[in-house]
Amino acid sequence: MSDATGIYVNGTWRTPATAESIEVTDASTGETLATVPSATDAEVRAAVDAAASAFASWAATPVATRASLLATTAEALSARRAELATTIAREVGMPRRLSDRIQVGLPVATFTDAAARAAALTWTETVGNSTVRREPIGVVAAITPWNYPLHQAANKLAGALAAGCTVVLKPSEVAPLSALALFEIFDSVGFPAGVVNLVSGPGPTTGEALVRDPRVAMVSFTGSTRAGRRIMELAAQDVKRVALELGGKSANVILPSADLERAIPDALFKCFLNSGQTCSALTRLLVPRSELERVEELVRQGIPRFAPGPALSDTTLVGPLASAAQRERVRGYIRHGLDEGARLVCGGPDAPAGLEQGFFVEPTVFSDVRNDMVIAREEIFGPVLCIIPYDTIDDAIAIANDSDYGLAGGVWGGTDEEALAVATRLRTGQVEINGGAFNPGAPFGGFKLSGIGRELGRWGIEEFLETQAIQHPIRTVG
Ligand code: NAD
Repeated sequence: MSDATGIYVNGTWRTPATAESIEVTDASTGETLATVPSATDAEVRAAVDAAASAFASWAATPVATRASLLATTAEALSARRAELATTIAREVGMPRRLSDRIQVGLPVATFTDAAARAAALTWTETVGNSTVRREPIGVVAAITPWNYPLHQAANKLAGALAAGCTVVLKPSEVAPLSALALFEIFDSVGFPAGVVNLVSGPGPTTGEALVRDPRVAMVSFTGSTRAGRRIMELAAQDVKRVALELGGKSANVILPSADLERAIPDALFKCFLNSGQTCSALTRLLVPRSELERVEELVRQGIPRFAPGPALSDTTLVGPLASAAQRERVRGYIRHGLDEGARLVCGGPDAPAGLEQGFFVEPTVFSDVRNDMVIAREEIFGPVLCIIPYDTIDDAIAIANDSDYGLAGGVWGGTDEEALAVATRLRTGQVEINGGAFNPGAPFGGFKLSGIGRELGRWGIEEFLETQAIQHPIRTVG
């Protein structure tokens, strides 16, 4: 029986101060899986107290010791991989086999990578008569969403801890269970008391109390642009640093020279992964007008592979959405798409047959979408793909860039060089060409409303560092 209560402060699990708790549901069945507490202002203050007290000594701990604890965390996560993949499959709805590879596999890689990169980072350099030093910024508040709960916590915590910061994590109230497991691991691998702290609870109460605390030096947030704005506003009171990983409405540009038989099945996967609840999902498919019919035919051929099913089934590629609220939101967008005149190629707003219990939405593809339609502009965060025809490559690039967001993108061309020439004209933080794979060592983050800052790789550690320049006297000879 685990001691994990949902509130971990100064090296111990605390009994929650109030009986108020939040239900976590199984996305495939709608049944209650567990409950987590709603941390009070006093509990948040205690967590920040602990992180503030532990900061000086953790910052002074040799990088090699910090790196070794991160590497041990990766090993311990890996040992619990199957169990964590099932937990996340249940609370988020991502099918278990994908959850194993992505939801748990990536965090293992991230902790391993941060350990190696911390040791290799340039902590001190000489610039003329100055010594330039890198210092951890201080106490970091990490606030994460529900779609890749462990991955997003790992991105922030691995980087911050490697940098020498202490942290307080507030995970999403929709999918908090993997965070509890992560803190059991932190506890068992021997992080000093106060270095890592966890407060469960809702955003507007627990989350805001954490952001407001003047001892928090930096807020690293992943979630909606709406909450990101609010956090930035609160952080402005104390001029706290903010790192924001927000939404996206990314374009996948299919050039006339692309091999459609490869590009279209991949495009469906890159949109429907995790039921479309992926901030970097490629949700706008830009195709040459002359190829529209052929693309739609390939979509119809490819779609049966994405028939939704329970997350714990071994044959499912698309599971349910994470919550009833999200399901209703996405169905609302599908109805809106029909109202604004987009043409339905497949899917629709009704519950998939036989799957009325969980939070399922039929993977849906619209064609003849105009880039000024709501379904092309707003982040739907569900399995909805918009096919937008274009006439020239310059048009395609203009449509791709005509978005409030700038997180990710894709380009398919006859050669990698041709795709690359278009990729470099996209105003987004990441672009994959010809199906290029996600790289957890490369910087991740967005332009425009998609956010501020970068996670992962050495950029994900530098994010949590301050820079100090020490000027030495200039000695003249003679
Ligand atoms: P959300 O913004 O509602 O919640 C995210 C987190 O912020 C949760 O922990 C929530 O409790 C907390 N929160 C909400 N309001 C807050 C407030 N006022 N003060 C402090 N904390 C607050 O987002 P969500 O619904 O959990 O996630 C979906 C959104 O996240 C999508 O828009 C998606 O694009 C975005 N997202 C972005 C990335 C990225 O890396 N760019 C990754 C995943 C998700």
